[in-house]
Formats: sequence, structure tokens, C-alpha cells
Amino acid sequence: MPTYTPPLRDMQFVMHEVLKVVDELKQIPQHADIDADTINAVLEEGGKFASEVIFPLNISGDAEGCTLDTKTHAVTTPKGFKEAYKTYIDGGWAALGCDPEFGGQGLPLVVNGMFYEMLNSANQAWTMYPGLTHGAYHALHTYGTPEQQQTYLHKMTSGEWTGTMCLTEPHCGTDLGLMRTKAEPQADGTYKITGNKIFISAGEHDMADNIIHLVLARLPDAPPGIKGVSLFVVPKFHVNKDGSLGERNGIYCGGLEHKMGIKSNATAQIVMEDAIGTMIGQPNKGMQGMFVMMNSARLGVGNQSLGLTEVAFQNALAYAKDRIQMRSLTGTKAKDKPADPIIVHPDVRKMLLTAKAYAEGGRMLQAYCAMLLEKEHGHADEKVRKDSGELLAMLTPIAKAFLTDNGHIATNACMQVFGGHGFIKEWGMEQFVRDNRINMIYEGTNTIQSLDLLGRKILGNNGATLKKFGKLVGALVAEEGVNEKMAEFITPIAILGEQMTKFTTEIGFKGFQNPDEVGAAAVDYLRVAGHLVFGYFFARMAQVALREIAAGNTDPFYVAKLQTARFYFSKLFPETATLMRTARTGSKVLMDTDAALA
Ligand SMILES: Cc1cc2nc3c(=O)[nH]c(=O)nc-3n(C[C@H](O)[C@H](O)[C@H](O)COP(=O)(O)OP(=O)(O)OC[C@H]3O[C@@H](n4cnc5c(N)ncnc54)[C@H](O)[C@@H]3O)c2cc1C
Repeated sequence: MPTYTPPLRDMQFVMHEVLKVVDELKQIPQHADIDADTINAVLEEGGKFASEVIFPLNISGDAEGCTLDTKTHAVTTPKGFKEAYKTYIDGGWAALGCDPEFGGQGLPLVVNGMFYEMLNSANQAWTMYPGLTHGAYHALHTYGTPEQQQTYLHKMTSGEWTGTMCLTEPHCGTDLGLMRTKAEPQADGTYKITGNKIFISAGEHDMADNIIHLVLARLPDAPPGIKGVSLFVVPKFHVNKDGSLGERNGIYCGGLEHKMGIKSNATAQIVMEDAIGTMIGQPNKGMQGMFVMMNSARLGVGNQSLGLTEVAFQNALAYAKDRIQMRSLTGTKAKDKPADPIIVHPDVRKMLLTAKAYAEGGRMLQAYCAMLLEKEHGHADEKVRKDSGELLAMLTPIAKAFLTDNGHIATNACMQVFGGHGFIKEWGMEQFVRDNRINMIYEGTNTIQSLDLLGRKILGNNGATLKKFGKLVGALVAEEGVNEKMAEFITPIAILGEQMTKFTTEIGFKGFQNPDEVGAAAVDYLRVAGHLVFGYFFARMAQVALREIAAGNTDPFYVAKLQTARFYFSKLFPETATLMRTARTGSKVLMDTDAALA
């Protein structure tokens, strides 16, 4: 059976020693009074909830799955899920990062993000029930009318009601412009919504009293394509004026998907027959509100893979110290045993360190993005708000795709550490691989993330945002460029930073002549950009570790950090050279292949 220990020490390192979040939060009026002790205490308790309440339900939930009563359309979640959710609500966890105006605790998003990393490590499928609510909450909080906000946000904040996002239809996934669900305006200002959605996560369940669906649909006179899509809030139960639950609305679960992973999260087919909803935002501008939700969800999906990477690493590490097979190539290490523990073998270490490096880099990126989001909305200085928003827009597809691809690599590597036992269910490792797989697909596949990064976020503004990130790298290079001890961490990012500028211009130029060149290079490009970002963060982490060691700090944590950074720059970061090379081979070898693909 797997185990899980919340990585509180590394979280504290990221927040307090590298990013200095408490100082940064002082510039944000609503968080000016927060201190490190409060943050640490909340995360310590949050870690207990994750490891003690929902982690024990991970394997059993996977085995049991959800069941649908086709007569009543009711979905029953696995044993223990409902009770765990009640503990979550009673503990006030749902309200952690929410607005105090609606009953939230108003804690910084970075705290909520780290809490969610632990929930994801413990049980990704369970975590998606409250997790989806956050996206719906943000969309309503940003674009909802005061009446919609009063009707829904209090109960979503408390967690008594959960939320969903209903975009996908059988014939329309990536291309939402193909959507068919219809919304007919009614005399009272509401809309009658009719259509079928599929793959709706947490679309029906027994954990909350009401489910608030955010649904994309078309008005009768809507222009074709994505410019004719509007956003609606459609509750499972109508809400009376006094806030009590009213009649059942015409929105039902018509079926549950049988799937590879996250089996205990109900992936619902949703049928709407004259379901009554109200519009969020302006007619035909539904994607604006949905993007608020999707951006929040994209960071959330990166966080899911971060959680799985961490828990897979912890278990593989323990196994590698315990399992004995063969002797070390450099001579016997465990003389009292018939063989050495497998951790003596270089390749086993490589697999472990790959997962460790991807977890630690991912945690930095997630925390950094959470701080950018905080600054974008709450910083006192307008320029900081604007810059933070732009940088976050560029980093969001990286946080989604790079972290989930890394999660795939890491969970597979950790399963491999177990040899054949990794393939056997009772160890829990194959579940981490299966659960992670969807993270590369939903919320816009990783290919779509890479097109968003390269096409819209980088080439779309002539590389201006990339230059902003380049300035951060440049500042670190300028600060540490003459420090010999930092050279092994600084030189690679200085070189890659320069190469990226040239590489981007080259693709931009080729793409101007033939747009398929952008499509052919995008996935490789995102991975190179991901390494530039991780390289920058590993250099910053190494900088802190070196300073602590120079000051006489003997905590082995800092030595471990340096060793992980060294491993990262030696064994993982260099794939950027291959990626740039393959990207440069262009689109012709892909597009002139009609015979090969006939
Ligand atoms: C378990 C699960 C949970 C989900 N939860 C939700 C949810 O809560 N709400 C919701 O609305 N949806 C949800 N989805 C749907 C999910 O977001 C979509 O499956 C995903 O966006 C891809 O859409 P699709 O499956 O229709 O694939 P398609 O859009 O048909 O894509 C097929 C392939 O073509 C590629 N492709 C498509 N267009 C391009 C292009 N222009 N350039 C390059 N490649 C392209 C894609 O990357 C992909 O590899 C969920 C799906 C699953 C399986």
C-alpha cells in the first residue's frame, strides 16, 4: 500500500526562502497582515486532512468507482467520499482562498494552491469534486451579476454546493465553435437550455446539496462559430428567493463514462431538456467568462500532476531503499544482505531524481503563478497588475502542459522503479500513472496549450512577454554571473535564454510564410520554454541553498537541493538541444506524408 507525507518543508522553502511571499503579499492590501506562521499552520493542518482523510480512500475509490441509478439519474460516489467531503466542509477548507464578502477566509491563493497539491497527491479523483467548484466560483465572481453572485457564491464558498464546467459535446471538444446546445430566451429574462454535454467532471454526485453547472450554449440568432457562444448558470435545483432549494431543474446525468483513471470522479453525460438558466456576462461573449474558469482550471490541472509526481516519488524512493536486487557495480554496499538495495544502481537513481526534480520545479512554478494571479488582481500598483497578468498568461499553458507531461514521465519512472510490482495494483503505482494520463488531455490538450503559447502568447505579441521573462533571467544572470559557485546553474539558462530569442524569431519568420511551421514546432517549443522556466527556478533555489551553506547552515535539506539542481541541469535540461533541433526540421516531413498516412 502506498503512503503519503505532505512535503511541508519544501513548500516552506519555496514560499518563504525563495519567493518571500509574505513580503510580496504586503503589497496586496487584502493580504498585508498575513504572516509565515499562519501560512505554515494552515498547510500543516491541510496536510493532515489530505493524508489522513482522503488518501486512504484513493485505492478503494478507484476500485469501486461511481454508480448511476438510471431511473432517478442519481450518482453514488464510492464509500467514504461523502463523509470525507463533509469533513472538508466542516473544517472550512472549501472557503480557504475565497472572498470574505461571500463567507470566504480570504487566504492567499498560494496557500490554497499548496493545499490543493496535497489533495491531488492524496486523491486526485476526490479532489476534482471541490476543485471544479473553484473555477465556476471564479467565473461567477468575475462576470456574474450581483444577483447571481448573491444566489450562488455563499454556498459555493462554503462548499455546500459544487460547480462544473459544461463545454464538451459529442462532436465538439477542442473546437467549441461547433457547439449545438441551444438557449431560448424567455419572457422573464431566463433561458431554456436544451442539448447534450459529455465528459463533465463531477457532473452528478451525492456529495453536495446542489450542483451549479456553468454551461456554454447558443442563442437562436447567434453568429456561427466561437463568436456565437454564450455562458449560462444552470443549477441542478432551482434556488428560491430566500436561498432555499426549489424544484429540480431539467438537467440530468444520462450516463457515466468508464475510463482509464480518476475512476471515482463521476465523468457525466449531461442531458438538458428545457433546463432553466440565466446568462453570465454578455450575449455571444461566453468564452470571456469561460476563460476565467479555464485559466484557473489549467493551473489546477498542472497542480494535479505535481501532486501525483510527488506522491509517486515518495513511494518509489521508499521502495528503492528497501528492495534488494543484484550488487552495486562498484562493489557490495549492504554486506549484511544477500543483495544491495536497488537505490545503488545509477539508473534507479536517475528515475527517482527525475521525479524529484520535476516535483520541485513544478512546485516553484505553481507557487510563482499563484503569486502572479494574486498580484494581477490585488496589487496596489497598476503596472505590476498589468505585468503580472501578461506573464501569467504566458506561464499558464506551460504550467498546464509541461507539468502534466512531466507527471507522465515521472509517474512512469516511479512505477518502473518497482519493476513488475509497479504493474500490480496493490502497490498503487499504476494508479498514479493512469490518473495522471487525463491531465495531458483535458482543459485543452497539451498540443492546444503549445499552440496557445507559441501562436497567441509569444508570436501574437512579437515575443514581448517572452522578453519580460527573459528580463528576469537576465537579472539573475547579472546578479550571479561572476559567482563561480553559481556558474553551473547560471550558464545553462543564460545560453538557453539567448538561443530561445533566435529560435522564436526563426519559427515566427517561417510561420509567417507557412502557418503549419508553427503547428509543427509548437509542442517542442513549449518543452524548451518549460525548461527555461524550470532552469530559472532551479538556479534561484540553488542560489538560496548556496547562501545558506556559506552562512554555516548544516541542514542537509540545502545539500539535497543543490544535488537535485545539479541532476536537473545535467540530465533533464539538456533535452532542449534535441527539442530545438527537431523543431527546426520543420513541417515538410510531417505534411508531405500523404503516401505514408494513406
Ligand atoms: C475524464 C475526462 C474529464 C473531462 N472533464 C471535462 C469537463 O469537466 N468539462 C468539459 O467541458 N469537458 C471535459 N472533458 C473533455 C476534454 O476537455 C476534451 O476531451 C478535450 O478538450 C479534447 O477534446 P476531444 O476529446 O473532443 O478531442 P478532439 O478535439 O477531437 O481532438 C482530438 C485530437 O486532435 C488534436 N487536435 C484538435 N484540434 C487540433 C489543432 N487545431 N491542432 C493540432 N491538434 C489538434 C487534439 O490535440 C487531440 O489530440 C473531459 C474529458 C475526459 C476524458
